[in-house]
Amino acid sequence: MAQAKAPVYRSPWRQQEHDDLADLARTFFVKEVLPEADRFTAQGHPDHEMYQRAGKHGLLGLSVPAEYGGGGGTFAHEAVVFEEQVRAGDASLGLGVHSGIIMGYLVAYGTQEQKQRWLPGLCSGELVGAIGMTEPAGGSDLQAITTRAVRDGDDYLVSGSKTFITNGFLADLLILAVKTDPTQKAAGMSLLVCELGDDVPGFSRGRVLHKIGLQANDTAELFFDQMRVPAANLLGPGEGQGFIQMMQQLPQERLVISVSAVAAMERALELTIAYTKERTAFGKPVFDQQNTRFVLAECAAHTRAARTFVDDCIARHLAGELDVATAAMAKFWLTDRQCEVVDKCLQLFGGYGYTTEYPIARLYADARVQKIYAGTNEIMKELVARSL
Ligand SMILES: Cc1cc2nc3c(=O)[nH]c(=O)nc-3n(C[C@H](O)[C@H](O)[C@H](O)COP(=O)(O)OP(=O)(O)OC[C@H]3O[C@@H](n4cnc5c(N)ncnc54)[C@H](O)[C@@H]3O)c2cc1C
Repeated sequence: MAQAKAPVYRSPWRQQEHDDLADLARTFFVKEVLPEADRFTAQGHPDHEMYQRAGKHGLLGLSVPAEYGGGGGTFAHEAVVFEEQVRAGDASLGLGVHSGIIMGYLVAYGTQEQKQRWLPGLCSGELVGAIGMTEPAGGSDLQAITTRAVRDGDDYLVSGSKTFITNGFLADLLILAVKTDPTQKAAGMSLLVCELGDDVPGFSRGRVLHKIGLQANDTAELFFDQMRVPAANLLGPGEGQGFIQMMQQLPQERLVISVSAVAAMERALELTIAYTKERTAFGKPVFDQQNTRFVLAECAAHTRAARTFVDDCIARHLAGELDVATAAMAKFWLTDRQCEVVDKCLQLFGGYGYTTEYPIARLYADARVQKIYAGTNEIMKELVARSL
């Protein structure tokens, strides 16, 4: 049988400028972030200053218009950076939230004044962004949140708490989901942009949560007790827009996760092919065992299917046509495949796969949460089913 190599697949949206950006991003993650990875893991968060370094390399806010300090590009540029971060093996900087989510809300709903005030700092990395939706009593039922914002003159007084907030320990800027009218469900929700700091009266950070994966990125609890937020920091034309805004932005958030899921599958496959070709058992490379070959062939097929699916979603999103159901489908299907493929790959490493010196172990531990955050995969299936 002829031993032809599988042709290299290239994402249809990818152009030379994306390849150049990928080189730049890879160099940054490998040379500047990874050498600090153990320290970041031990302290439970990256250094704040690392966001500024990413900003200096032009890796933050690539889809934000240049007039606000961004790269003036598209979601495709952001996707390249998210992919390279996974490929390099860094999971400390919360870039998916910082660039992929926070800036999207500000670009879409911010007033000119709000954009000028916050976007340049987010793009340079002076400010770290976070989003607070989930509360201790529940995350899936978003309309049931109880964090309250009560109008008091030119301010809101905010009371309540949020948990599992990515970048929560470092965040300077938080997009906070609140109830401005507790008698209403969705129609009572609003988004407030909160400028955080350890000297802000009524604001405190709780624990940095210990997790089974993503240990170098901070996930934290946040508490608000009559914290004053200027009414001018409301996002959108008036109160009651928060739920609609989140529903409009969540497809991009789910696409960010889908992009990283596929990059993780590709990396796991690459690492495992290399390892099984080197490792021998019973006098021949593990790769030459029929089981290994079949497992890797299956993983390669799933990974290719995943890549073409996510590329289709990226193309739809670039055209402004990524709908809620397709994004939900991608999020649950791709993260389920990610967990399966990474698990199968880890098995082919044998005992070494279970040790943290091997990147496959990190990929395994980091994969699990993908089925949980940004809406659990069960909620994603509900969203898809509603569209059928
Ligand atoms: C590492 C990490 C980072 C995160 N980052 C952020 C962040 O930056 N900002 C933020 O706001 N949140 C964040 N989250 C929170 C995350 O989005 C929530 O954990 C998630 O939405 C689920 O909410 P919950 O944990 O309260 O689970 P629950 O809502 O209590 O759900 C528990 C279980 O019940 C199932 N379930 C609930 N309702 C239904 C239903 N109707 N049908 C079927 N099954 C159902 C769920 O699928 C789940 O399996 C993060 C979480 C983690 C772990």
